[in-house]
Amino acid sequence: MSSPFSPADDLEVYCRFCDKITPVQLDRSIAENGRTVDRNSTFEYLCTKCFKTFCYCGNDLIEQSRHEEQGTEAHQYNPQEHFVIGETIHHKKWKESGVVVGKDRGTPSRILVNFEKSGLKKLIEDLQ
Ligand SMILES: [Zn+2]
Repeated sequence: MSSPFSPADDLEVYCRFCDKITPVQLDRSIAENGRTVDRNSTFEYLCTKCFKTFCYCGNDLIEQSRHEEQGTEAHQYNPQEHFVIGETIHHKKWKESGVVVGKDRGTPSRILVNFEKSGLKKLIEDLQ
C-alpha cells in the first residue's frame, strides 16, 4: 500500500518553454482510476509566465510539508542517490548549495540544479 502524497503547490522550476527558471503552480493531480493520489501519481504544474503546463511524477517532487520547513538541511550530493524538485542540495567538492529545479530523463538521469554562484548545472542522479 502506498500512502497519500501532496507535493508542494508552489515551486521554482526550469521551464523549457521560457528557457529560464520560473515560478510554477500545481494545477491538478492525476491519479489512475479508483486510486488515491500517491507518489506514483502524475502532477501537472502551470508556468506562471507562459501558462504552459508540464507533468512530473510524485517521485520527483518535494512534499508540501517538507517544502514549508525553513532551513531544512541540504541533501549531500551523491550521484548514486535520488533527488526531488524543490529540495536543496549541497555539493561537497564545489562547496556550494543549490536547489533542484528540473529533471532530465536520460541514461543516466540528471537533475538540473540552480547553484547560488555557479548558476544552472546538470548533475547525474540514480547512478547504478
Ligand atoms: Zn514558462
